[in-house]
Amino acid sequence: MIVMKFGGSSLRNAGRIKQVAHIIKGRLSLSPMVVVSAFDGVTEKLIALSHNKIHFSVIENIHKKIIKDLSLDETIISGVISELKCSYKGSPSLPLRDKPKQLDKIISFGERLSARIVSSYLNQKGIKAQAFDAYDIGLLTDSHFGQASPLKESYPVIKKEVLSIIRKKIVPVITGFIGRDKQGNITTLGRNGSDYTATIIAACINAREVQLWSDSEGIMSADPRIVKDARPIEQITFDEASELAYYSRRFHPLTLLECIRKNIPVRILNTYNPTSAGTIIRPLSILRREGNRPVKCIVYKKDIFLLTITSPRMLMQYGFLEKIFKVFAKYKIIIDMIATSEISVSVTTDRKYHLNLALEELSRRIIGSDVKIKEKQAIVCVIGQDIKYLSGLSGDIFMALKQSRPGGIDIKMISQGYTRTNIAFVVDNCEVRRAVKALHKTLLAKWTTP
Ligand code: ASP
Ligand code: MG
Repeated sequence: MIVMKFGGSSLRNAGRIKQVAHIIKGRLSLSPMVVVSAFDGVTEKLIALSHNKIHFSVIENIHKKIIKDLSLDETIISGVISELKCSYKGSPSLPLRDKPKQLDKIISFGERLSARIVSSYLNQKGIKAQAFDAYDIGLLTDSHFGQASPLKESYPVIKKEVLSIIRKKIVPVITGFIGRDKQGNITTLGRNGSDYTATIIAACINAREVQLWSDSEGIMSADPRIVKDARPIEQITFDEASELAYYSRRFHPLTLLECIRKNIPVRILNTYNPTSAGTIIRPLSILRREGNRPVKCIVYKKDIFLLTITSPRMLMQYGFLEKIFKVFAKYKIIIDMIATSEISVSVTTDRKYHLNLALEELSRRIIGSDVKIKEKQAIVCVIGQDIKYLSGLSGDIFMALKQSRPGGIDIKMISQGYTRTNIAFVVDNCEVRRAVKALHKTLLAKWTTP
């Protein structure tokens, strides 16, 4: 049994859906379970609809056009469409506290529509398939609307339901991204949550593999828009992929958790190139047996904020970091990198929300401190779980940056933990291209052979 998840970009139009059906057909012997996202851009449009920014017919027409192009019958979505019509009316005037709940309900329609259309098309192509809303096969979550967590108690139910569908030789086409809380309200798992749904189902039934299909190559050694000779990475470890999840929007950050727990490999595949093996994410032990490459890729994230708190009072004091992090926790600011000296702490975050409030409070609480924020910064990160065994790698990194032309690249902050799955540093946004190019050229030539 395998779980195949198709993202919105693979479901952009009738032509892409035909390709998806072709890919599924070629894998029927593996007993696939299919998980689908909403069609490309539909989730955004549903959000706009809930704010009354677009007309309802925009959503209706996108789906009707695809149905027509696939020569399917419009009635397959009429029930869901009328339900959506009733649901969105009145959303803008709801009291604030009910809005997240209402938004989850409205955006759930993207996946509910796409699952119905994809399964009907599979039927038309002679594949026995059926659409399921994830909660109808047992996916229960807590009531954290917009970022709900699946409840473990629903796993055995999902297992039972899915296995009984598979036994009937039906390909289930399951809605990604959505669930239901115990009160029966529809919830969502957070943006890009369909990957997470796929891995939850895989964990429930102990699938052989999870396949995440999208419209681009697997994981690359660097952003191909920056590095022309960036190459696809065949294998990557769970830890490396978890680091990478922060930098690329390839998958929902929690996607890998379930697969790590159950040791289920995850494969990243391209619907435009379905015969390519893509990138497989597996445990380090297996990769080592096959000859692991130490440096896997160079990634970056732009538009982060670099905060520095300097205070002589930090000298020889305990509890100082606690004070700082309590403020970040209060404002729900997620910290990514951290570096400290005797009198200063530097951290990065990518969220602007409440940042100024937190800074004000830090200045107030830590008397005599100087709190600074630098915008338009970027983290550049070299990822590789076995880089810890390379002596001289840091030297190569900093030499490459120093020798980059026309002048060396200024590094604002550096972080490398003891486990050393990555080495990360901060530069100005505008230096990212140069830094990534220089590092790819130096490191990938030298440090990629096992
Ligand atoms: N449709 C949802 C989103 O756009 C979930 C997903 O695509 O995985 O976030
Ligand atoms: Mg998506």
